[in-house]
Amino acid sequence: MPEGPSVKRFQLRCSPFVGQTVTKVGGHTRQMNPDDLKSLTLWDTQIHGKNVFLAFGTIQEVVPCCGNASPGPSECRPPVPETATRGDNSLLLRMEGDAHQPQCHLLEEPEVNELPLLTDNAARQPRKWLRFHFGLYGSIRANEFARASKANKRGDWRDPIPRLILHFSSGGFLVFYNCRIYQCSSPTAQPATDILNPEFDREQALEALCKATPVCYTLLDQRHFSGLGNIIKNEVLYLAKIHPLSLGSLLPPSALKSLVDHAIQFSLEWLNSKLHGCGLHPQIYGKDKCPMGHEVMKGAFGPVDGLKRLTWWCRQCQLEVLPEEIHSI
Ligand SMILES: [Zn+2]
Repeated sequence: MPEGPSVKRFQLRCSPFVGQTVTKVGGHTRQMNPDDLKSLTLWDTQIHGKNVFLAFGTIQEVVPCCGNASPGPSECRPPVPETATRGDNSLLLRMEGDAHQPQCHLLEEPEVNELPLLTDNAARQPRKWLRFHFGLYGSIRANEFARASKANKRGDWRDPIPRLILHFSSGGFLVFYNCRIYQCSSPTAQPATDILNPEFDREQALEALCKATPVCYTLLDQRHFSGLGNIIKNEVLYLAKIHPLSLGSLLPPSALKSLVDHAIQFSLEWLNSKLHGCGLHPQIYGKDKCPMGHEVMKGAFGPVDGLKRLTWWCRQCQLEVLPEEIHSI
């Protein structure tokens, strides 16, 4: 399943189409009727953790910033990259800037009590929000289709089948693969828990981590670390030199802080390397030896009532803190 950095890249592929109208649809899904999106305009794209949200509406609700049309009483905002306030992201900022092709920006969604002021019936229609949640090989591609990278078990080179294809007025198109599509009333974005969001709340994350629960369970809890997946979990535990099954309550605050810092840093670096077209070079995930040359252990860990996830760790680099060691200090 794609992790936060991959899903962020999917969202960035959708952003250039904001302000454009869907002219033709395709794909095979029973989760929605693609025809419902025909003639609608893509209003907005949002991301929360491993979900991309797209908002569609009628063309009357999009007002150009430049040109003859009056923007009316609502504010017309310049695009502000989400990562503008986050650390060393010059590449990301540059790429996002390039990606914002449309010269149209969206009106703020009207408050309910402002609706009577609108005279255009079309503008009263609510946004249609779709949530995309990706499976193991799920993706969004822009202006290209995925091609088979290897033959299937029967020896056929069959290209993946798109769930949804959206052709836009510019002539470009988006293709959605291996994802579940849900209609929803609004995006459930909570920036404070989104590992890639500049508003990610470190204090809240530390509170979640310091419980008497193995830290490798808490890191994968999307309520606290949305977008953090199994690869990031393994890598940041190694970087912070913490054993996956260490109870958060037994670790010193400095170790937990280091873990949160590594989680944010690693996720951003992974995103930036994706935007450069570079792959990930894990230090511990899927490895037999750690970078120090030690043998790597492997096990499936997860809560009693939850999913068990493969975990790699080094017994020498990531010492487990046991309760008796704490009492003897
Ligand atoms: Zn090691």
